[in-house]
Amino acid sequence: MSTTLYDLDRVAFGSLLDSEPRYRLDQLWDGLYAQLADPADITNLPKSLRGRLAAELPTALTKVTESVSDKGDTIKFLWELDGGSRVETVLMLYPDRATVCVSSQAGCAMACGFCATGQAGFTRHLTVGEIVEQVVRAAQRARDTGRRVSNIVFMGMGEPMANLDRVWAATERIHGDIGLSARHITISTVGLVPGIRALRDLPLPVNLAVSLHAANDTLRNELVPINKRYPIDDLLDACADYLDVKNRRVSFEWAMIDGVNDRRSDADELAELCRKLRPSAHVNLIPLNPTPGYPTRGTPLKRVYEFRDRLEELGANATVRQNRGTDIDAACGQLAAGQPVTLSPKER
Ligand code: SAH
Repeated sequence: MSTTLYDLDRVAFGSLLDSEPRYRLDQLWDGLYAQLADPADITNLPKSLRGRLAAELPTALTKVTESVSDKGDTIKFLWELDGGSRVETVLMLYPDRATVCVSSQAGCAMACGFCATGQAGFTRHLTVGEIVEQVVRAAQRARDTGRRVSNIVFMGMGEPMANLDRVWAATERIHGDIGLSARHITISTVGLVPGIRALRDLPLPVNLAVSLHAANDTLRNELVPINKRYPIDDLLDACADYLDVKNRRVSFEWAMIDGVNDRRSDADELAELCRKLRPSAHVNLIPLNPTPGYPTRGTPLKRVYEFRDRLEELGANATVRQNRGTDIDAACGQLAAGQPVTLSPKER
């Protein structure tokens, strides 16, 4: 794969520009990351240098479509990559923040049956440039509507911990160069224990989210097959360890599936797991979103709130996550990059 514009960190750009005066690197860096400009538009750089950059370092993402939700607050980008694979990025505008949901792989090998990306299988890891560029392009889009991206979640397509080296290099760029606080960056994992341990040893205190979905191994083996390799006890140990070292709260994602993991006994088991962590884990409840390969419904909202109330009664913190972008298939678990989710209005 050829090197693309956002693959290079500042040091690498420094060597590329070593025949130029030193301040050129500052101008370029300010243009790329503070102004979020395309190299062609960084007009304090000489035209010849701009031409050279465009020729040697193309961008990585070709926009195929941009879908905007009914209310206009969720924007989904579908990109084509070198080699033809496609990935999606979602920009969510809230009154108090703007969040970019980033993909780390084309497809995913984790095979969670309820997730559209999992249903599609794995194609390849994304490069650093492809990950960073998703953030830059979404941030440019946000800026055009007068907004600034404040939060990044690695909750798009793919398993970030399976591509941790590149995800980490991208995180450092998002933090150090785009300028987001580590506390506003969240890496979500299906529960790859070695990845969680590796993340613990990396410097920035980013948030860790774990896609738990079940609080006992029998059910979790079914919903999240990688649980057979990293069962709940081991996963919890790794989370406790992350908490100890980073002093950051760990959150558990829980897609509520009608009649599967939304019973009172599930809430009771989950609350017990949460309490094993100090401070207690925070639970994000998301009613399951429909995907073509998994005909089960999401839990109706009334019961989602009852489940939350039961967790809180037992001392676990829980939030019901607003469902964003279901009308453009941009909600959690629906990112399929070009495989249209065709459901009747009733099923939605
Ligand atoms: N692979 C990582 C990153 C994906 S994040 C991980 O598993 O954490 C996407 C989140 O949406 C995960 O918590 C995932 O389990 C959840 N999800 C997947 N399919 C879903 C669906 N159909 N409805 C609701 N949430 C879903």
